[in-house]
Amino acid sequence: MFAAPHFHDDEAARRLLEEVRWPSERSCPHCGTVGRSYATKRTQKCGATVYRCGEPECRKDFSVTTNSVMESSHIPLHKWLQGFYLMASSKKGVSAHQLHRTLKITYKAAWFMAHRIREAMRADGTFGPLGGEGQIVEADETYYGHRDDKRLGKTTIRGKRGLAGKRPIIALVERGGSVRSFYAAVADKEAVTKIVAENVARESYLYTDESRLYGDADQLFAEHATVKHSAGEYVRYEGERTIHTNTVENVFSVFKRGMRGVYQHCAEKHLHRYLSEFDFRYNHRSALGVEDEARTLAAIAGAPGKRLTYRRPD
Ligand SMILES: [Zn+2]
Repeated sequence: MFAAPHFHDDEAARRLLEEVRWPSERSCPHCGTVGRSYATKRTQKCGATVYRCGEPECRKDFSVTTNSVMESSHIPLHKWLQGFYLMASSKKGVSAHQLHRTLKITYKAAWFMAHRIREAMRADGTFGPLGGEGQIVEADETYYGHRDDKRLGKTTIRGKRGLAGKRPIIALVERGGSVRSFYAAVADKEAVTKIVAENVARESYLYTDESRLYGDADQLFAEHATVKHSAGEYVRYEGERTIHTNTVENVFSVFKRGMRGVYQHCAEKHLHRYLSEFDFRYNHRSALGVEDEARTLAAIAGAPGKRLTYRRPD
């Protein structure tokens, strides 16, 4: 699995990371100056070369890990690349225990690494809305795990007693395209309408189940069609349209299988990070022509510009 040199050699790993971050010329992360830095003789503990900015008013040191999820890490760069590869290529995710065993780093270091890689996988919000003219977007909600704070238990999507205290998740999927998932702390009609309105193009066809949560969608989109799950209806054909929410339900199913099988427990405050991880793999899936290697590089490309600090694993 780790045949390539960058998976076992820090020098090769550094070169790969630098190529991804600086495909043409090296820029200083402190002042943005391009092409005026030079290598010092120093190397960071992770194996990254220390550069010095040649801009007279800056003159600061930096490396390929500066201002990225790998900043200040003592884990060797080649192990970081193994971690990125494992998390990008596994269908259901990789537990901190597995990273700990495979990479031969402490459990604590593995836990931190996994969350930092999730941060690198997080979409940075610069994408436009899902859908568009003639495009179908499916929206649905599900529940995963329980609220850590039982006092929040009464806030549910439909107010059904059986769902009290569960964590609501909303997902929007463009058919043949990308997914965006949200952990909704408060998931009433107002909150759901806001999520849908902010993330789906007005020209789209929106397909949902018959939930009242999407009642306002009729006015917002080119078309809003529903399937009546409560009446046993899962697919309906209207002319050329196939109305269903199976795509988004499959996304939920992969997420839940991974969370139950691999991660088992996750604190409520981290749930959005796991959603980022599963969204990332779906949005870089094989069906779109993205294979393991390209998916790993896409995750690495998301590392700069993001930092994550934690006091302790929990
Ligand atoms: Zn500089």
